[in-house]
Amino acid sequence: CGLVGMTAERDDVVPEVLARLASVEYRGYDSFGLAFLANGAIGMSKAVGSVSQALHERRLSRLQGSTCALAHTRWATHGRVTVSNAHPHLSFDGAVAVAHNGVIENHAGLRRKFESDVVRFTSETDSEVVAHIIATYLAAGVPLLTAICLTAGLLEGEFALGIISTADPSALYGVRQKSPLVLCEDGGRAAIASDQSALSGIARGRAVFLEDGDLVRLRANSIEVFTAGGGGVPLPVARAHLPC
Ligand code: GLU
Repeated sequence: CGLVGMTAERDDVVPEVLARLASVEYRGYDSFGLAFLANGAIGMSKAVGSVSQALHERRLSRLQGSTCALAHTRWATHGRVTVSNAHPHLSFDGAVAVAHNGVIENHAGLRRKFESDVVRFTSETDSEVVAHIIATYLAAGVPLLTAICLTAGLLEGEFALGIISTADPSALYGVRQKSPLVLCEDGGRAAIASDQSALSGIARGRAVFLEDGDLVRLRANSIEVFTAGGGGVPLPVARAHLPC
C-alpha cells in the first residue's frame, strides 16, 4: 500500500524512512515492515499493526547505523495479515529485499518455476517471488540492474517495487508498472515513495515521476532512470524533474 525508501551519506536513514512511511499510513494498512543495510547484510523488522503506533511506543527507536533503508505498509491482497506476510520480503539467500505495492497476477506460475530445495518461500504473498527471482539471477552472475530488469519483464499485473541488495549496498532500486512511484534527490540523500506527500521537504519540492516500465537506481547523490531494451538490457532514459 505505502512504500518509502532512502539512501544517504549519513547513517541514520531508518528513523526518517519510518516517519515518512507513517505520514502516508492514512491510505490504509494492516501491517508494516522495514529492511535496511548495515555491515554488508540486510536487517529486517516487521510487525502487524501501525507504524505510527510502533514509533509512538518507541518499539523501533534503536534502529541506527544504516545508510540505506526500505519500508512498507501492507494492505493485504494475497495472504493473511501476519508478520511473515508483511513486506519487505527477503530472498532465500538474504541478498535481496523487496517491498511491493499492487498485485503480481502470474505469481503462482512464477512460484512453481522458481521454487526449489534452495529457493524456499516463507510467506503466502504474491510479492515474495520477486525477491527470489532477482536473487536467482544474481546467484547466476547477472549484474543487479540487469537482474531487476529481467525480473520485471517476467511480472504481470500492477506493481511499484522498492529493492535493496547486498550486491550494491549504497543503492536503492525501484520499478513501476501501473502503480505510482516518485523519487527525488537533494545532494547527500535520495528517496523513493509510492506517494509524493511522503517526500515533502526533499529537493525543494521537485521530483521525478516514473513512467510505466521505468527502472530506477538511486544513490545518495544521483538518480538514474532506465527502460528495458531488447533482450531485457536496461537502457538509460531521461525523465523531467517536476514540481510536486
Ligand atoms: N499484493 C501484496 C500483498 O498482498 C501487496 C499489497 C499492498 O499493496 O500492500 O502482500
